[in-house]
Amino acid sequence: MSVTQPMASVEERTQEIERELLERARHEHEHLTTLNRWTKQVLSWTLSDPQVKAVVLRFLDCLPSLRTPQAVVQHVRDYFPTHQRRLPHALRLGASLSRPGLLTAPAAAMVVRHVVEQMARQFIAGSHLHDAVAVIRRMADRGVLVSLDALGEQVASESEAEAYMQRYLSLIEELSVACRGLRAPDAVGGRPMVHLSIKPSSLSAHFDPLSMEDSVSRALDRLRRIAQQAVNHGAAITLDMEQYQLRDVTLELARRLLCEPGIGERLQLGIVLQAYLQDSESVMKELLGWLEARHRRLHVRLVKGAYWDSEIAFALQRGWGVPVYQRKLQTDQSFERLTNLVLSHAPLVHPEVGSHHPHAIGYAMAVAEAKGLAKETVEFQLLYGMGDAMQGAIHQMGYPVRVYTPLGELIPGMAYLVRRILENTANESFLRQELWG
Ligand SMILES: Cc1cc2nc3c(=O)[nH]c(=O)nc-3n(C[C@H](O)[C@H](O)[C@H](O)COP(=O)(O)OP(=O)(O)OC[C@H]3O[C@@H](n4cnc5c(N)ncnc54)[C@H](O)[C@@H]3O)c2cc1C
Repeated sequence: MSVTQPMASVEERTQEIERELLERARHEHEHLTTLNRWTKQVLSWTLSDPQVKAVVLRFLDCLPSLRTPQAVVQHVRDYFPTHQRRLPHALRLGASLSRPGLLTAPAAAMVVRHVVEQMARQFIAGSHLHDAVAVIRRMADRGVLVSLDALGEQVASESEAEAYMQRYLSLIEELSVACRGLRAPDAVGGRPMVHLSIKPSSLSAHFDPLSMEDSVSRALDRLRRIAQQAVNHGAAITLDMEQYQLRDVTLELARRLLCEPGIGERLQLGIVLQAYLQDSESVMKELLGWLEARHRRLHVRLVKGAYWDSEIAFALQRGWGVPVYQRKLQTDQSFERLTNLVLSHAPLVHPEVGSHHPHAIGYAMAVAEAKGLAKETVEFQLLYGMGDAMQGAIHQMGYPVRVYTPLGELIPGMAYLVRRILENTANESFLRQELWG
């Protein structure tokens, strides 16, 4: 590591890099993200009014549980009567066709499901192995790596958790075979082509902080098998971070896996750090001490956090302290402090920066330069469907890029879709400002 630069020059350099990133990104696309027609229509409409947004999100949330076309049609009528005149074209069609005598319920339900499905496809790559292989190949052609997420979280039964584990096992095996002849993109520094992102709550029906020991050992039984498979095939896995209440149990699961003989010292394991949590810095410092003492390494994906609205609602409902920052600027500043912390501890940790915001990306590049880190040390990660132009710009600047790519059916994918919509329409979201000014 070289001499650390003063913060003023890091900020100046950040702004220079940010300008370069935007210029390169705009050269690739007019907009930093390319939304399909349906998604754009529904997002613009959702943005028009907070009440509309709440209704749309509630509707998307309950759609997967509606078993009959009649139930879909009834919910469209119940949820959208007052906003009907401002409905996007396709939903208006679905709502008016669902009036008695105009169209059968199955046909009207099909229109509504089609619109929602088109939106989901913006953010979900497909549901089959061949979709996964196609996306890995397509990205590799552009010099970009992929992390696959088999959609699903908070399973309701152990048999469901078992099915998820089987899915991860076969994904690792089949993708390793399918990617064997594939040339790794430049600037990846020996990074694996097969990379999975796993939601810990999909590993056990009892993943609960109130019974820490039981939760960890049930999830570990399945995770150990997935990890062994990953080690055997040279693949990597990251444990996604979910709600705050699952944070400590998730970190304990990671620590226990790193202590597993034959796995801990060979597995490329990642965890996620959420900058919106007020105690993330102290948690990371504790983890760094633990890694140092046990001679283990860990990939750390730094993100801002995807559950902001629900963390606040959950804490307020129970009269608990709110664990997240409540001003966007505080989260952004925390992200910068954590960037410094994580980059200062390479190679004990492998830094991964998960953001679409050019300032956050530029800041991480400026800090990496100031610390004299090689470009291949810091991986940048973006979400599928949310930043194609930025992927290209980061790759052109010589850094490794990985795209987090959800794979799965629409119905289990709905929770994921709802979060993407929340992010795209949050007042202070960078993408909202980029798209709608
Ligand atoms: C590859 C990848 C993997 C990810 N994995 C995870 C994961 O495992 N777990 C997870 O939780 N998230 C994950 N995310 C999502 C991430 O946390 C962000 O929600 C998303 O990236 C948007 O942040 P941004 O920096 O791109 O954009 P920005 O627009 O700069 O930031 C938006 C974020 O700022 C925060 N924010 C918004 N309003 C406020 C406010 N008023 N007060 C305080 N904070 C506010 C929220 O965290 C919001 O998501 C992942 C993102 C990427 C790119």
